[in-house]
Amino acid sequence: MNTLNFDNQFVKQLPVDKVEENYPRQVQGACYSWVKPKHMQAPAMVAYSTEAAELLGLTEQDCESSSFLNVFSGNEQLDGMQAYASCYGGHQFGNWAGQLGDGRAINLGDIINQQGERWALQLKGAGPTPYSRTADGLAVLRSSIREFLCSEAMYHLGVPTTRALSLVTTGEEVVRDVMYDGNPAPELGAVVCRLAPSFTRFGHFQYYAQQESGLLKQFVDYTISTDFPHLLKAGAELDKQTYLTWFQEVCDTTCDMIVGWMRVGFVHGVMNTDNMSILGLTIDYGPYGWLESYDPNWTPNTTDSQHHRYAFGQQAQIAHWNLYQLANAIYSLIDEVEPLEKILNGYAEKHQCQWNLMMVQKLGFSKVLGDDADNDVVQTLFAFFAEHETDMTLFFRQLIQLKTADFSQAIELLSVSFYAEIMNEKATALLKEWLTKYHQRTTADPTTQEQRQTLMQRVNPKYVLRNYLAQQAIEKAEQGHYAMVHELMSALKNPYDEQPQYEHLAQKRPDWAKHKVGCSMLSCSS
Ligand code: AMP
Ligand code: MG
Repeated sequence: MNTLNFDNQFVKQLPVDKVEENYPRQVQGACYSWVKPKHMQAPAMVAYSTEAAELLGLTEQDCESSSFLNVFSGNEQLDGMQAYASCYGGHQFGNWAGQLGDGRAINLGDIINQQGERWALQLKGAGPTPYSRTADGLAVLRSSIREFLCSEAMYHLGVPTTRALSLVTTGEEVVRDVMYDGNPAPELGAVVCRLAPSFTRFGHFQYYAQQESGLLKQFVDYTISTDFPHLLKAGAELDKQTYLTWFQEVCDTTCDMIVGWMRVGFVHGVMNTDNMSILGLTIDYGPYGWLESYDPNWTPNTTDSQHHRYAFGQQAQIAHWNLYQLANAIYSLIDEVEPLEKILNGYAEKHQCQWNLMMVQKLGFSKVLGDDADNDVVQTLFAFFAEHETDMTLFFRQLIQLKTADFSQAIELLSVSFYAEIMNEKATALLKEWLTKYHQRTTADPTTQEQRQTLMQRVNPKYVLRNYLAQQAIEKAEQGHYAMVHELMSALKNPYDEQPQYEHLAQKRPDWAKHKVGCSMLSCSS
């Protein structure tokens, strides 16, 4: 543990809040406030990720040590650690929310590992900070399990994400009103330690842009030199062109992340600008969910149940909207609308291209055809999904085995992914139409069947963190049984492999889970 090599550029380079006491306040002219994690009564280990630990050069033995437990529950600080909470703002559900900040995240500093990579360490749920507003800065076991499991699952799926190192219970009670219906109840407290090269959000830039001149430029320059060092030109000052190249990269990585979400059926649930990472990482796992039946309008977030702003099919557009807000924030450094608009327009085009490529790969084609042939195949499939409730993950996984356009053979193969038993006339006709088109398209494709299957197996996961499985693991953990948390961790390490021993974790949602709180409906209370 003492080998961690702290570098802490954030606190070294950026201005600090002059007030040192820990009470809620508005902070101006500073990027962070010093704050110590709260002392927890009885920390206990639930799980840690050996792959994430490796990023810090920590061994399994380190992770099993009492020092690890103490440090990552917030009870002990290592030499070199400098704990702080950062200040940011953001648009929440389309409205400017003013100052937000790390209200229940406490940064411990960033290290440089043996490979020369920077990893920032952050505790979530380790107590109040100056940015906690009226809340307690704590997190409950239920939401911490969700953050821990999903971060690592996303990583293994190949979707850019912040990582999760550890999950501990604190031995303290945290009161939450889960459904915001006037029934607060005590729950078990927990702390997750997450890792990322940086936890900077669009909202950081937005907030600093509204303050006295200088802070925004200082923060942008810091970000480029620390998180985007490849954009620096030796000896040269950062200029307009560097800022534009940087913004272009943010648009590109954001686009890649969204296409990754669409590929695996992930719905973030709260794509506010304060939940958008400048590195294009999936960040802040709250009321997220995984598509069961393919439904672009689906959102797991009960706060969004009326407007569906952050529904599955909206995510690319919302990311675009968020990038507009970032462009507005950094505008003063560029002072020209046109080049920013050009990059923003490029995002829409790039997304369309990437999305097309992703869809044809899911279907097993080697490349996108120039004409509308692919679009027709894809749209006919979506028309079928709209008519007949179909599990997205299972459907694409089963499709790998499809060899002919024969309707009854296809039904035999694909029906495990259907939620409704009876297929109506329209759905039957659509599936038949689609099978014919799909068969024609695969026959025209230059790849062999074997190559196609290999390609499909790499992009269509068999194992995702199904909503009802996460909820079952939570309910067991709340009774003190962590075996299912560990089982899910293990299965989700190899999401594209068959893993017959985990077959029971690759089943469609059972009926009981369809409308159950925690499975299909999640509140922001965490
Ligand atoms: P989120 O919706 O989780 O992204 O959080 C939005 C803002 O609320 C951020 O500034 C969080 O730090 C803050 N926040 C959320 N939950 C808590 C909590 N339990 N205590 C303090 N701040 C919180
Ligand atoms: Mg957040």
